[in-house]
Amino acid sequence: MTRIVARCKSAPGEPSSVVVFDLDGTLMDNRPRTLVILQELAQELRAEAHSSAETLFAAKAESLAYLLGDSLRLLGLEHPELVSRAESFWRERFFSDHYLRHDVALAGAVDFARACYEAGAVLVYFTGRDLPLMGLGSFQSLRDLGFPIGVVGTELVCKPDAAIPDEEFKRKEGPLLRRVGRVVAAFDNEPGNCNAFLEMSPEADVVFVDTQHLPGAPPLDDRVQIVRDFRMR
Ligand SMILES: [Mg+2]
Repeated sequence: MTRIVARCKSAPGEPSSVVVFDLDGTLMDNRPRTLVILQELAQELRAEAHSSAETLFAAKAESLAYLLGDSLRLLGLEHPELVSRAESFWRERFFSDHYLRHDVALAGAVDFARACYEAGAVLVYFTGRDLPLMGLGSFQSLRDLGFPIGVVGTELVCKPDAAIPDEEFKRKEGPLLRRVGRVVAAFDNEPGNCNAFLEMSPEADVVFVDTQHLPGAPPLDDRVQIVRDFRMR
């Protein structure tokens, strides 16, 4: 982490150093967002005197899985009707501006992003969230959590359309980061995205943030470094 901050400095006349950060599962833990949504569903179920309401209320952010269906199964909620109702209730809310305020920063993430910024890097928040439904909420959440945003040397890059798969989007748009500067580091919680960054910028420090990721991910390239959070020890 110290080396990456040192790489953020660029000499006059050289292209700017760029540090790329994914948001969900990288800079931010979005499980509190899911928890709030499940509690709202539990309220609705309680009003109907549904037998699963109290089980859902007992859910904890730290025991949520990557996929909602897995989280429900861990709680013992497997009735297909409830699962499909929960999935559509969750999907309508999880991928929307309004609920992004519930996300929390990973340990050390704000300080690390600020350290990179203050050392001279351009920060690019390069997310699989889509611009129409999540762009404004993402900007607001970055600002409210204390990440550098809305100032010279920062960018928020979102997908134009939610239907584009994340890795496809990052592989297509990633090479365009050259117009911002020279990528010195990239952080992501998806092994596939980390491998893609390494292919696009072999000289960069590519870092896998080991939180949660899509099941069935490809093996991580062994040149990718692994951290659990952003604390600089
Ligand atoms: Mg992510």
